[in-house]
Amino acid sequence: MLQNNLWENSSKENIGFEQLKDSVVSDLTIVGGGYTGCSAALSAAENGLSVTLIDNKIGFGGSGRNVGLVNSGLWLPPKKVESILGKDSGIKLNKALSKAPDLVFELIDKYKINCSAKRNGTLHCAHSQKGFKDIQDRYQQLTERGAELELLDQKEAEKRIGSSKFHGALLNKKAGTINPLSYCRGLARAAQSKGANIFEASLATKIKRKDNFWEIQTESGSIQSKMLLIATNAYQQNIKGIDPSKYTPVYYFQAATKPLSKDSLEGVLTNKEGCWDTATVMSSFRLDDENRFIIGGIGNLGPNISKIHSSWAKRKTQSIFPSLKNISLDYFWGGQIAMTDDHIPKIYKIGQGAYSIFGYSGRGIGPGTYLGKSIIESFLTGSEESLPIKPTHSNNEMFGKLKGNFIEFGAKLNHLA
Ligand SMILES: Cc1cc2nc3c(=O)[nH]c(=O)nc-3n(C[C@H](O)[C@H](O)[C@H](O)COP(=O)(O)OP(=O)(O)OC[C@H]3O[C@@H](n4cnc5c(N)ncnc54)[C@H](O)[C@@H]3O)c2cc1C
Repeated sequence: MLQNNLWENSSKENIGFEQLKDSVVSDLTIVGGGYTGCSAALSAAENGLSVTLIDNKIGFGGSGRNVGLVNSGLWLPPKKVESILGKDSGIKLNKALSKAPDLVFELIDKYKINCSAKRNGTLHCAHSQKGFKDIQDRYQQLTERGAELELLDQKEAEKRIGSSKFHGALLNKKAGTINPLSYCRGLARAAQSKGANIFEASLATKIKRKDNFWEIQTESGSIQSKMLLIATNAYQQNIKGIDPSKYTPVYYFQAATKPLSKDSLEGVLTNKEGCWDTATVMSSFRLDDENRFIIGGIGNLGPNISKIHSSWAKRKTQSIFPSLKNISLDYFWGGQIAMTDDHIPKIYKIGQGAYSIFGYSGRGIGPGTYLGKSIIESFLTGSEESLPIKPTHSNNEMFGKLKGNFIEFGAKLNHLA
């Protein structure tokens, strides 16, 4: 069996773009068409900048493969963000990203993006007593900072999830779920409708500074621009002339059923919240618009679907929802997360008017959309103040591959147990 991405099969936003075949001049070039790049392209075009975005395929990276949980903030609890960045910078980032789901759902509404958006909450599920303490602590920190959340005890969580497996859950009603690839394609469509030039089958191969411009070469064309955004996150293909982004690559995969009948889903996620758990080797589960059940976990499926991870997906589904014990998992696909050492995304200043944004550490739908928009504000105002994260001038995370292998080893051991 080969990888087969459900989102590719079920996307209702389908749009294609031509290859770049000329030399063009733009105010801004964007390399990478995930949420960061497409949100930036949309915002640039809305604000009257001429913008050219290039990719091999829109949504080819994490944006076309993820779970589709539109959550606020980062993975880290807000106090931790404040302790890493310092109080003022931490407060600024937490505040900005607490509103990221508003931005995502506003864009979906404004541009009528057909991505099965459901803003009916997500559940962070406590897999153990220790996990419950973790969500209690998060509840306290987040509500102190103005978030509207509900802390569910075991009984309330069981009612919502339809499983007695969890010790409680943290419900964020302002969060929600989407078809992630459709959202990404919809952003690209919206950007094009506002005048952005978007090209596919057009990977950047070389970037150099020439006079006061950046020159970006592809196999069949080139772009000159004053401003440059590299938005390739965990999927950067080799580009000569710039430092590759440095991070720890962490694999995450998902498996999904065919659409299930109402009877077989009796009591399972009746309100369709998207869920993930508090375990270190975490897992996620949700339903899509057509009632396919989707389970996810850390691990590298490889091109031929690792037996260790695929068998785990079946066992895990059964252990959460015994009533689903005989279902067949028909889709398997995976993606790569760019994890940074401190789990905080990076804005790396490459040179004059040029930035690379990456390192969402597994939470990039809200943050990617938000940072894509805010980098344009910074280009327009000529000030970095609008950025919720201070740009760095070095890109020096070490031993990413080694750390990634270690995480994969741990996930395999966990999934064998
Ligand atoms: C399996 C999985 C599950 C996840 N679940 C969630 C979730 O539920 N919620 C959430 O908020 N986040 C989640 N994330 C994280 C989220 O998907 C990412 O943080 C987000 O998609 C990053 O967006 P991006 O635009 O920065 O990068 P990407 O979407 O990865 O896009 C980068 C793009 O750059 C292009 N590119 C690379 N090199 C070049 C080049 N040389 N020239 C031109 N283009 C190039 C690639 O083709 C790619 O399309 C998950 C990630 C994964 C992998």
